[in-house]
Amino acid sequence: MSGDYMVHTLAYDARVRAVAITSRNVVEEFRKRHDLSPLATAAIGRVASAALMLSAWASENERITIIFEGDGPIGRIVVEAKPDHTVRGYVGNPKVDLPLKDDGKLDVGRAIGKGTLYIVRDIGLKNPFTGQVNIVSGEVAKDLAYYFTVSEQIPSAVSLGVLVGRNGVVEAGGYIIQIFGGQLEEWEIDEIEGKIKDSPAVTELLKSGMRPEDILKNLLGEHLMEMYRYDVGFKCDCDRERAFNALRLLPIHDLKELLKEGKAEVTCKWCGAVYIFEKKDIESIILEREGD
Ligand SMILES: [Zn+2]
Repeated sequence: MSGDYMVHTLAYDARVRAVAITSRNVVEEFRKRHDLSPLATAAIGRVASAALMLSAWASENERITIIFEGDGPIGRIVVEAKPDHTVRGYVGNPKVDLPLKDDGKLDVGRAIGKGTLYIVRDIGLKNPFTGQVNIVSGEVAKDLAYYFTVSEQIPSAVSLGVLVGRNGVVEAGGYIIQIFGGQLEEWEIDEIEGKIKDSPAVTELLKSGMRPEDILKNLLGEHLMEMYRYDVGFKCDCDRERAFNALRLLPIHDLKELLKEGKAEVTCKWCGAVYIFEKKDIESIILEREGD
């Protein structure tokens, strides 16, 4: 796939689970496909890295969709991760731009604003499970940690980072640590929290040459158990047939307008792919509809 991957492990006698990812190429693909501004790249890159990491823990067939529905200028952010550890997604305003924060970082928090974070878990049943919390910071990692702790009652630490340079994404990645199976002693929690606090930003770690497995070793030390590696990537399952079906749903008036223009373009909102249909395709739909 993309060369990006994540590593999943258990630790502290399986009472803790952890996952870390390097996702530079995936985030760069989001940037290129949707022609994203640096700020939009950072925002969706964080969400996509998190969605991929959640797919490491998903059940077979489970699709996970993370939606940030904030009132900030980026609009809606939607990312879907599939069981094969691929993602696709989009933002409302791909060109969003704001002044940098005082610390020189992209202001993802302001871009997203206040609102609601939804996580949808769909295992193919009639009604997918949806959890929601208020957006607490808009910085994504903090919001997801709050979501897991409040909505799923799993105490969690989340770190995400996307470093965007002049020519695209330089580094992207993150980790999630969850207290999962049973209780941890106070000193064990202090130990993990201390290491997280002392750890540099995840993009710094990646830039220094550390891999996801090194990040987990640093944070969990001798408590680490066996590690499992999954390749990750960007993938959309749109195709020409689906695009054509979307065209068929248009009002007859719009179809006639398109016929005058001589062609129709259908753009996939998830991946930016453009499908072009000729006059004869549009005519065939109009004929079919007028025959009803
Ligand atoms: Zn697509």
